[in-house]
Amino acid sequence: MTGPSARVLRAVVARRRNLWTVLVALVAALLATLIWLAGRYEDSQFQERLERDVNASVGDLRATFLRHVQSVQALQVNDPTPNSWNIDAASLLREQREFVRIEWRTDDLSVLSHVDTPFRSSVFQRLGRSSVASEVAQACGNARRLSGPAYGTSYFLPLRDGLGVDVMELCLPLSNSGQSAGYLVVTFALQQVLDNLLERKTRPNGQVSFTEGDGTRLVTRGPARSGSRVFTAQQLIDLPGANLVLRMDQWRSTPELFPNVLTALVIAMSVALMLVLALLGKDTRRRLRVERDLAEALAFRKAMEDSLVTGLRARDMQGLTTYVNPAFCQMVGFRADELIGHSLPAPYWPPESIDEYQQRQAIRLAGNLPPRDGFESVFMHQDGTRFPVLIIEAPLIDAQGLQAGWMSAFLDISEQRRVEELSRTSQERLQATARLATVGEMASLLSHELNQPLAAISGYAAGSLNLLHDAPQRDSPLGADLTLAMQRIAAQAERAGKVIKSVRDFVRRRDPEHEVLAPEQLVDAIMPLVNLQARKLSVRVQVQIEDGVPLVRCDRTMMEQVLLNLARNAMQAMDQPQITERLLLLRAYRVQGDGLRQWLEFSLADLGVGIAPAVQQQLFQPFFTTRAEGMGLGLSLCRTVVEQHGGTLRFGANQPMGTVFAFTLPAAAIA
Ligand code: ADP
Repeated sequence: MTGPSARVLRAVVARRRNLWTVLVALVAALLATLIWLAGRYEDSQFQERLERDVNASVGDLRATFLRHVQSVQALQVNDPTPNSWNIDAASLLREQREFVRIEWRTDDLSVLSHVDTPFRSSVFQRLGRSSVASEVAQACGNARRLSGPAYGTSYFLPLRDGLGVDVMELCLPLSNSGQSAGYLVVTFALQQVLDNLLERKTRPNGQVSFTEGDGTRLVTRGPARSGSRVFTAQQLIDLPGANLVLRMDQWRSTPELFPNVLTALVIAMSVALMLVLALLGKDTRRRLRVERDLAEALAFRKAMEDSLVTGLRARDMQGLTTYVNPAFCQMVGFRADELIGHSLPAPYWPPESIDEYQQRQAIRLAGNLPPRDGFESVFMHQDGTRFPVLIIEAPLIDAQGLQAGWMSAFLDISEQRRVEELSRTSQERLQATARLATVGEMASLLSHELNQPLAAISGYAAGSLNLLHDAPQRDSPLGADLTLAMQRIAAQAERAGKVIKSVRDFVRRRDPEHEVLAPEQLVDAIMPLVNLQARKLSVRVQVQIEDGVPLVRCDRTMMEQVLLNLARNAMQAMDQPQITERLLLLRAYRVQGDGLRQWLEFSLADLGVGIAPAVQQQLFQPFFTTRAEGMGLGLSLCRTVVEQHGGTLRFGANQPMGTVFAFTLPAAAIA
């Protein structure tokens, strides 16, 4: 497919491809945003959960610290002596693993009694308890100020084995009837507090730590991680006097294929969307292919319509022209836009026929079908010339099977008419020639036949006159009358002879005009007429002229007449319903005659009914015919003409059936 329609189609394809690219990009962007949002939502959920965890753990821790305070306070319930106190404190240390040491101190913070945890060697062995006196003093100062338990800031105690522990002091002020009565100081190991807290909760993917307010990590549990997938939550534990923060670092394991339901859903929807897009794309491609096929079919149809020589016109049920093809426009000389939408009377109707055509249209619009093989009409070209057309009209049925109008095909039959006219006149001319030739033949036959009786009449009249001349009654009135009568008879017979001679001379007046011709020229001259009759009788005509056939000298008109007569007889012999194979074979070839003379023979073979033996006897008799409308002069004329040219006419049976007529002509002497 080339031309503008291909260009338009390419533009459509390119635009569609661009649209598709934009659509796919938009959908991909949308899906990416959705997945990102889903991930963010999920992250925020994770963070929230983490913060809830920290909150709960801080609650736990506060409860734990409260319990510690209560259990330490219980040591002072029954006014203990330092000894009994030591026993109680030792048992408390066994219960509470996070306690490192419990001290009973006086108001001026000197140690009354103390017990160390049995679970580890004393943490103060290396540096001595006095090294951390300021932390103790700070905690107890806080406690005194708050009149309740208070904590000191945490600190690091290096141990002998190169390690160390982070510890914190809890100070409880003791009072005795409103009077300050010393302090109970408890040293915590922060790591133990953290471990005890986490024993109740298991969190594989994270690190939990105590930090100071400025973020310095004191003790941690769990491996450390960093990166974008680590989430952090922290909360101040809010212990009086202490500034301890619980911090949780949680990391999300490497994202799975479907990290959670939401993302999975979004991804599933994305896949479905992509699938739908792919299907749509496939559908579009198929549609495009169909469109291209359709455009090609349309272009082909248009090319067909444009190259058609038959005029085409469609009209709706009101008679408005809805379509004309280029051939129709060319026929009537109007442009398509001048004809489409035009109502009746059409501009190509001759004004003198408008009434008649209107009536015809009225009949057509009333739903009467026109003749199937068409009808003839006359149209007018824009320049005013009239021309005959053959119109074949049929109802135009739409896709719903309803009649939408009329479709008509037009054939300009001017040329056909001209050929018909031509053949009619030449046929008339040939018939006249044939008739003339027949009359001439009759005249010569008659003259031949009448000459002898006339000569006899003259002879008898002369004899009678001689007898009368010598008779004795010669001078009698009767004799004189008889002599006169005899003389008149002789004179009339002579006159009759002259009349006949003059008729013969008239017929024969035209001397045969002999010319030298190629056999093809004779055959070519009769072919148009032979073909005309052959078409009518559905006969196939085959001509075979041998190479190098000699020229002949003959009277062209007479020879053509002979060939035409024989061809007609042959075709008429095949005009029988039972004969289906209708072939006329016309041949011209060289034959060797006696002596040195060259001969040419024409033969016409048919597959007709053949000639019955009874008919053969009388074939060349003038006026013998087996056909109702025949004259019976054709064959005798042919023979006369052929013999006049020095040739012979013969006939015989053809194989497998029919008859062969053949005649010879002497070849023209080559000058
Ligand atoms: P016409 O054609 O007027 O009948 P013709 O003298 O040409 O007169 O033919 C005489 C008759 O000879 C025809 O009526 C026909 O019966 C017979 N005849 C001539 N040619 C053939 C032929 N080729 N095959 C069979 N019969 C023929």
